[in-house]
Order: sequence, then structure tokens, then C-alpha cells
Amino acid sequence: MHVATETVYKLAHLKNWSNCRPFNGPALAVIGHPIAHSLSPVMHNAALVELTKAHPRFAEWHYFKFDIAPEELKEALDLFHQNNFLGLNLTVPHKALVMEYLDLSIQHKFLREIGAANTLKRTNKGWHGKNTDRFGLSSALHNELHVDLNGKDVILLGAGGAARAAAIECLHNECASLWIGNRSDPALVILLSDLKKSGSLASTTQLEKFSLDNPPPNLPARAVVINATSLGLKPSDKSPLNLVNIPTPAQVFDMIYRPQQTALLRQASEMKIPNANGLSMLVHQGAASLEWWIKEPQQVIHAPVEIMQRAVRAALN
Ligand code: NDP
Repeated sequence: MHVATETVYKLAHLKNWSNCRPFNGPALAVIGHPIAHSLSPVMHNAALVELTKAHPRFAEWHYFKFDIAPEELKEALDLFHQNNFLGLNLTVPHKALVMEYLDLSIQHKFLREIGAANTLKRTNKGWHGKNTDRFGLSSALHNELHVDLNGKDVILLGAGGAARAAAIECLHNECASLWIGNRSDPALVILLSDLKKSGSLASTTQLEKFSLDNPPPNLPARAVVINATSLGLKPSDKSPLNLVNIPTPAQVFDMIYRPQQTALLRQASEMKIPNANGLSMLVHQGAASLEWWIKEPQQVIHAPVEIMQRAVRAALN
């Protein structure tokens, strides 16, 4: 039986999981710090209920949320493994930190290039990592804004874990140009250097960096603007980029979905620029994680994307 519990578990619970666990079936979890706001449990537990209709074995599965501080990550990963958790999602601040605890020789091929994992799957030896944010972004751009990144000029805001995944996805899809703007320079310099070394950079793609405070006049017109900064998470946050100061974009996508309309998206709407928030990305990265966890050797089981989307929308309203 699935209950979309909003309980936030901690490391102390994990240390005593056999006594704390409310269900005995296979367990999945999202871990972050903070984590209370996460909609992943609502989304995944709704998906598991739906999957149970055709596959009764999922009736006993449950998805939890854990508040794990960065200094607790290693111990928590070992305990999740000992307690037979089948899969984990990672969110701020763990996506890059987790890389040092994965055996990179067996990891998914783009993981090293991105340098950040949002999904782990249990193996007998440890954790196998993957980044499904890339797929989530492409799916959301396609479904919400009819954008295919191939041949597009992209202005990407941010240089954190989500921006790294977005940048690799843009390069992998051979965008015409990728302009990455960030608040501070150090992370941006490292990202550009990593991307130049990456096998995903096609010789036809122009790669540039800029400061968010001082966007250059030669940014491309009709670009796809993607916000991968966390500026906008608070309703009072200003926009990371004033769209009036750059050539008018063709589309604006904000990875943030709560609040549903950030200052950036509000301005895009006022300027009549097609725009979308990160809800569809959340759902599609989640669907890709779930399909990876439940995959069987002879059968791909599709995640119920519509049900997941509906569950998240209901939780937001
Ligand atoms: P990180 O902490 O790794 O990166 C944060 C980024 O935001 C950095 O580039 C940082 O710049 C920038 N930033 C933070 N505060 C400010 C500020 N006040 N002004 C300007 N820039 C700022 O986070 P993630 O990359 O993991 O996540 C980024 C965003 O994407 C979050 O809002 C997250 O919720 C969202 N996200 C959404 C997903 C979805 O499915 N919809 C999936 C993944 C992420 P600096 O380097 O200068 O510190």
C-alpha cells in the first residue's frame, strides 16, 4: 500500500531503519539539504500506484525523502546500500559531491563529462550513477516549447550542477552556439574548460562565457534562454537576466517550477516570448530515473508520465 507521506527522514532514522521504516517493501528515496519542499515523493509514489495496476509487484514499493547534510553523504550512501534501497535521487547540494563516491569506471558514459549525478541505482558492489536532468530538459523543451536544440543558439544561465547537465545536452545536440552566463567567474571558467575537453563539443558549436551582470551586446537574437541558476526560487527574487538588455530571445525556459512563475518568466510573458517553467523537466527526469530503476532484462516498463505530471500539479496548487 502506498501512502504519499510527507515525512522527512534523517540520518538518525537511516541508522535504525529496520525499526523506523513504515513499509517493508523495496525502497527508493530522494536526498537533499534542504528537502522538505521536494515533490519527488508525491510524483514517484503516484507513479508506483499506477504501475501496480499492471505490475502487482510494485504494490510494496515506496519512495521516501531524506534530509542529509553534505558531511553525512558518504555515511548515508553506505547505510542506504546496507538497507537495500534500490534507487536514489540526489538534489542540491549532493549532485556533484556524490561523484567522488562512485566508481567512475562503470558509470554512465556522460556522467564524467557532466560531473554531477541526480540518480543512483543499487548494484551489489555500490552505486551506479546517471544524470537524467539532461533528458528531462530536452523533453521539457520539446513538449512545452517545441524546441529541438540542434542548430539553435542557446543562452544558458548558471554554472552549477543543473547548468552542467544542460550544457552537455546542448553540445550533444550540436547547438549552433552556447553562451553561458554566471554570477561568479570561477565556476564558469572551470565549466568552460571542462566543456572544451568534453567529447560532446562539436567543432561547429561556438562556446562563449559572459557575466550575468554585464551581458555582451553580441549575444545572439532569437536564442533559447535557459535559466539554470537558483535565483528565482524565492518569490521575491529578481530575474538573473533582464531580457530587455539582450537581443529578444525566441523562447525562455526556467528550470525552477516553484514558484510557478519566476521574475524571468513574468518578464518573458510580458514581452510575449513563449516560455515554460521546470515542471515538465522535473517530471521527465523523474520518469527517466524510475524507468532505469524498474527496468527488467527483457522488458522496458514505461513510467506513467501523465499521472506523475498530474500529481505534481495537484501538489503545487
Ligand atoms: P547549484 O547550487 O549547483 O548551482 C546554483 C547556480 O545558481 C550557480 O550557477 C550559482 O552561481 C547560481 N546562483 C545562486 N544564487 C544566485 C544569485 N543570487 N544570483 C545569481 N546566480 C545565483 O544548483 P543546481 O545547478 O543543482 O540547480 C539550479 C536550479 O535548477 C535550482 O533552482 C534547481 O531547483 C533547478 N533544477 C530544476 C530541475 C527540474 O527538474 N526542474 C532539475 C535540476 C535543477 P554561482 O556560481 O555564482 O554561485
